[in-house]
Amino acid sequence: MCWSFVSPIISKLFFERRNSKMKALVYAGPGKKELREVEKPRVVKDSDAVVRLVKTTICGTDLHILGGDVPAVKEGTILGHEGIGIVEEVGAGVSNFKGGDKVIISCVTSCGKCHYCKKSLYAHCEDGGWILGHLINGTQAEYVHIPHADNSLYHVPQGISDDAAVMISDILPTGFEVGVLSGQVSPGDVVAIVGAGPIGMSALLTSQFYSPSKIIMIDLDDNRLEESKKFGATETINSRDAQATIDKIFELTDGRGVDVAIEAVGYPATFDICQRILSPGGHLANVGVHGKPVELQLQDLWIRNVTITTGLVSTNTTPLLLKTLETGKIKPEVLVTHQFKFDDMIEAYETFANAAKEHALKIIIDFQ
Ligand code: ZN
Ligand code: ZN
Repeated sequence: MCWSFVSPIISKLFFERRNSKMKALVYAGPGKKELREVEKPRVVKDSDAVVRLVKTTICGTDLHILGGDVPAVKEGTILGHEGIGIVEEVGAGVSNFKGGDKVIISCVTSCGKCHYCKKSLYAHCEDGGWILGHLINGTQAEYVHIPHADNSLYHVPQGISDDAAVMISDILPTGFEVGVLSGQVSPGDVVAIVGAGPIGMSALLTSQFYSPSKIIMIDLDDNRLEESKKFGATETINSRDAQATIDKIFELTDGRGVDVAIEAVGYPATFDICQRILSPGGHLANVGVHGKPVELQLQDLWIRNVTITTGLVSTNTTPLLLKTLETGKIKPEVLVTHQFKFDDMIEAYETFANAAKEHALKIIIDFQ
């Protein structure tokens, strides 16, 4: 065999082999993460897509996973469930998307056909739900495999910035659906949001669709409270003294308490503030991820006609939220405080893990 004939074959094989690898941020057991070279994903089922990431971000949930709070995550799993990218490849059964399309990756994967999907409870899809960066590889990688692509991806509308689009993957629908909609925020309401992190801030932005009369932001971090005023908070309270916080809220509400309390932290102490500040007929919408039991003060609550809701985001409001971004009704990119390159992912995690010190809210990671 002529060498000049073999050589292109060898170089093609070498090229393909090199091209089958990608960089990814991998969970390496409790407290450990690594940037590794791993196999690039491929389309397996007809309903799949593979997306090349353009931007991703780090979520508080990723820190919970690294803290060992989510034991279902196996070592070697690529983290991340938020991001935007360009469709690289689709299965034969995908009809809404084609190679080259710019897409938002939803944090929730949904088949669109099962019992729960038919009820718009995509969070509980029998062949999906929150699986990205949890039960399957996630978005903190150069490429990601997306099952049920037709139902789990969204086209990025013209005129929306990349940073704003990333906020649609998770935090905006989470704050809106589990906080604002479950809490039934209505015109003239007094709303208290406990937790001024990205999710609390998303609830702050989206609660303004319904014109509440007051939005009281509560947190331990004075910098975040100051930021929240720029995003629409009418009052802020530092909650280092829980009883003083509760007293202040009754003072601000003519002794009645709030119509809606949104819990966006996930600690017994923050849930406790919420259950103690409700006016009769009030709603407590829990958004926070809880790792420990809370003490429910039912002996005080039973007579007060209150409603307590819980939930995991279904992202069924994503099309509606995209319209509000398109028309400039809200600008979620204001929540982005830091930008990193993907190669500096470990440093990005350090910054996000020290959010108070670093004045961090949402961190964007760029793959370009
Ligand atoms: Zn998230
Ligand atoms: Zn389903």
